[in-house]
Amino acid sequence: MSAPRYKRVLLKVSGEAGLGGDSYGIDPKTVHAVCEDIAQVVHTGVEVCLVVGGGNIFRGKALAESGMERASADYMGMLATIMNALALQAALEKIGVFTRVQSAIPMDAICEPYIRRRALRHLEKGRVVIFAAGLGAPFFTTDTPAALRAAEMGCDALFKGTSVDGVYTADPKLDPNAKRYETLSYHDVLSQDLKVMDASAISLMRDNKIPIVVFSIRERGNFLKVLMGEGVYTTIA
Ligand code: UDP
Repeated sequence: MSAPRYKRVLLKVSGEAGLGGDSYGIDPKTVHAVCEDIAQVVHTGVEVCLVVGGGNIFRGKALAESGMERASADYMGMLATIMNALALQAALEKIGVFTRVQSAIPMDAICEPYIRRRALRHLEKGRVVIFAAGLGAPFFTTDTPAALRAAEMGCDALFKGTSVDGVYTADPKLDPNAKRYETLSYHDVLSQDLKVMDASAISLMRDNKIPIVVFSIRERGNFLKVLMGEGVYTTIA
């Protein structure tokens, strides 16, 4: 019987893959399914941090391209991540997983502010800590806050749950000859400008020697499987 390879991990889920169906907004069935997968991992005793994107609701870059001032658009994106965090919290607690949401933009009536030492204490008590509102600063996506929180929380790995089962030589949805990498170095990703995560996130993980595991969050049970070193994924280290 395999055992989890890491003791504390941060899972970054994009808004679309983690909460959205095929259209705009939050699909309760998708949220429930992802939370079941997270619960499986929590039940093994692994400590789990979550960072969720907001792309199923607003992405600052896209709003800015349609004419909105970028910083305001990014703040709307950050608020979207708080809505997603609350959706994940509600769904996790419904299936018996204890959680706390901590937001980089204080919103006292609905969640805790981000306090590093308090977050660490929650993890030690077996609670899932959901980090919302990114860095609280515009001109970023949620990749960099995911990397930063992983480093701050002393995580052993950063799991990036997407709609694709790893990193490919080309977009597998467009190119049937695209090949999946088993492993990549941080340098490979940065020098070849592979679209895995923002460069600032990759370099933060490189500097702190935290591996990144890219896998599909769409396949049920996959988070636990990949954590055990089974199934299909790409490791960047
Ligand atoms: N965002 C930001 N600063 C941050 C994190 C997020 O400005 O530190 C905004 C940005 O507009 C981003 C949006 O929030 O596009 C939603 O996050 P992201 O694009 O990462 O969502 P995902 O693609 O993962 O669903």
